[in-house]
Amino acid sequence: MTNPLIQAYRKPVLYVSLPSGGKFYDTKPKLSVDGELAIYSMTARDELVSKTPDALFNGEATFSLIQSCAPDIGNPTEMPVNDLVVILIAIRMATYGDAIDVDVKCPECDNMNQLTVSTNALLGSVKENVALDKVTLDNKFVIKVKPYNLHDRTKLQIQRLKQQKLIQNLADAELSDEQRQKQFGETFLEIADLTVTLIANAIIQVKPPEGDTVEDEHLILEWLKSITKEDYDKIRETVEELSESGVDTKFDAECIECKHTWNTNIDLDIANFFAG
Ligand SMILES: [Zn+2]
Repeated sequence: MTNPLIQAYRKPVLYVSLPSGGKFYDTKPKLSVDGELAIYSMTARDELVSKTPDALFNGEATFSLIQSCAPDIGNPTEMPVNDLVVILIAIRMATYGDAIDVDVKCPECDNMNQLTVSTNALLGSVKENVALDKVTLDNKFVIKVKPYNLHDRTKLQIQRLKQQKLIQNLADAELSDEQRQKQFGETFLEIADLTVTLIANAIIQVKPPEGDTVEDEHLILEWLKSITKEDYDKIRETVEELSESGVDTKFDAECIECKHTWNTNIDLDIANFFAG
């Protein structure tokens, strides 16, 4: 932001700590002296973008929103995915204030309750993710990993959506069983290949018990395709733990009809985030 008008007009509304602690970025984000990220409220354009459901699925809208409201991130496509939810909650809070209204159905009487969740409380539950970023396999290979980045996670989501649609279309289409099976097989292979590629992208280096440490992504991908399911799962689980945001979405609900109380979960989808 070098335009003096914009600089004078737009100020950070709040500061937030990141689950990643600012680690795992190729370009380090600019954080405050307390290690927190500045969050700005949405512009009129951002609000329009955030309310276009179709645009949200392609990832571009998310990137543009973060660029506008958390400009110190630098390049949002390479940010670790565990910071995403926290930044979106903070943008929501900076724009619309503390309360998120959610509809929750009572499990006892089916009454639809409108409850209010505090974004401040959600952000208050966030701690730095301290999961290990190293896996040691039984054969003494040591693998250094990082969380998924936003670009890769978005790619996987798009692929999953495409797959769901395709499966639906295949079920409806007039195809022979053989044709249908072939197409199903191809989509599942595509997803499997993509998943392996994304895990490979999350591997920083592989150190065999003897010999040199390898950082070349092609060699790592090739190696990953050759290892056992047990070792693969170990690596995948570590990447997934590192990718957790740690936001505690559970809260106590009480039904206004029958006074039943229960513990429930708020589903933080984009619609909940940005319904003003
Ligand atoms: Zn009830």
